[in-house]
Amino acid sequence: MVRSKAATAATASGAAKASRNQRLSNAERSAYFARREATKVLRCVLQGDAQRRAVGSIKSLVYSPSVRNKKATFALVCQTLKHLPIIKEVLETSSILNSKWKRQEELVYIITYDILFGQDILLVGDAEKFLMLRKDAIQSSLARLLVRKKAKCIEDLTALYQTPDVTKPRYVRVNTLKMDVDSAVLELGKQYMVRKDDMVPDLLILPPGSDLHNHPLVVNGSVFMQGKASSLVAAALAPKPGWKVLDACSAPGNKTVHLAALMKGKGKVIACELNKERVKRLEDTVMLSGATNIEVLHGDFLNLDPKDPPYSEVCAILLDPSCSGSGTAVERLDHLLPSHAAGHAPDIIDTERLNKLAAFQKKALAHALSFPAVERVVYSTCSIHQTENEDVVKSVLPLATSYGFQLATPFPQWHRRGLLVFKGSEHLLRTDLVEDKEGFFIALFERRDTADHSKMPSKSSRCPCAHTRDCANAHRIVYKKKYVTPYMYNRMFKIWSYGGLKFGRKKSGGATISLESEHEMVSSS
Ligand code: SAM
Repeated sequence: MVRSKAATAATASGAAKASRNQRLSNAERSAYFARREATKVLRCVLQGDAQRRAVGSIKSLVYSPSVRNKKATFALVCQTLKHLPIIKEVLETSSILNSKWKRQEELVYIITYDILFGQDILLVGDAEKFLMLRKDAIQSSLARLLVRKKAKCIEDLTALYQTPDVTKPRYVRVNTLKMDVDSAVLELGKQYMVRKDDMVPDLLILPPGSDLHNHPLVVNGSVFMQGKASSLVAAALAPKPGWKVLDACSAPGNKTVHLAALMKGKGKVIACELNKERVKRLEDTVMLSGATNIEVLHGDFLNLDPKDPPYSEVCAILLDPSCSGSGTAVERLDHLLPSHAAGHAPDIIDTERLNKLAAFQKKALAHALSFPAVERVVYSTCSIHQTENEDVVKSVLPLATSYGFQLATPFPQWHRRGLLVFKGSEHLLRTDLVEDKEGFFIALFERRDTADHSKMPSKSSRCPCAHTRDCANAHRIVYKKKYVTPYMYNRMFKIWSYGGLKFGRKKSGGATISLESEHEMVSSS
């Protein structure tokens, strides 16, 4: 049967209409779910903020596996928060909310944002219908607000309410295993103004707001989006090509792959990570980097025996343990929170949590210093708290000295150093949450006395490094002079530390989990 042209055209147009309807309903569905996902995140953020309680950052909540439409959810949450004071005032003055919808205030905020400032609302859902029926009332309430605030347009009004924009340059670290720095500058320079950082040789600075998430160089692992402070850590450790290096708490692995690049892919990086989920992220990062000298180890750093052969040869340890993440307030978008606008301190200090974290940090640092062949240990946090920084370093200093370590000065040209709370804290490095837009802390321990400290000296011991006679004599003198008391201290410290560890752990289904694994992992770089 031959069909007429008109009939064919009609069928085609019908099919196009049906497909348009299908697309529309897909769009409606995805907008509906994005609003629900954004509601959950917003509720968690606002409740945490109101109770001055630490919850995950907006980003960590959005990037949790349960959120499917991450991009739309993130945008909706951030935009709603940005406009929240206006939205609240509009809703209050229009008096349209009954008790039922007042109980779902976060969803109402999000839909109102869409009605007032977002795209044309894709109307599905009861809450959407309720608010769309009152769209005129909402809009006239906004118009009255404009008049009251003497704002000419919405932009003026938004500016009146907005907290100052916290802008931070976009840093990217060139993965020199895949690309050299000059080629990266050339390639990124096609789209952005690019400068080289003057402290970390493979770090580039791009203008704030440069969105590189889908840039081919990011997607193929030639560059990593990594902040300046975070990039200082592996550079401070300065591992040599060919060394065996241990990254003690390594996921998601940004510093691990930086170490591998600094070692030019030679030698070995052992990347230890306790959290199973995060081990997957670590493996992805390693894969993306193209590094072939990284061994991923799923386990508890505190359980690694420094005397066991793979670890007894480790020359350097990077210890970047779980911390409060208080230095990442800008990254966490805390300036969008109502408490920030109200002028409260942006950081929520939960002393009990800080003390728990610090207890783990001290154990981990003491453990790192006990590896017999280690020459350099870097301890870093993205915290601004003295409890997690200077206090941790100070607490291990006698032990560190007894092992032959001294504090060294990473990046001496950097002006911001440790808080002056003990002699030697001027060696420590800090970055400032306000001035540098991220709060970071780095301590570098260097072993100046290279004796083999795997064997503790006894009163009558020879030099345990069993080198030359001179060397043995020299060390014996040192032990006599310095180490008899620290040795006792060591023993006591170890009994305390490992005893504490034993008591501090819980058995779970036969597997030992450390207290640390129970902490919320707020920080990543
Ligand atoms: N250095 C990482 C980076 O730059 O990508 C970030 C590390 S993050 C601050 C701390 C990590 O330590 C978390 O992934 C946490 O799961 C892990 N962790 C906590 N306790 C641990 C332990 N006892 N042994 C090994 N890893 C641990």
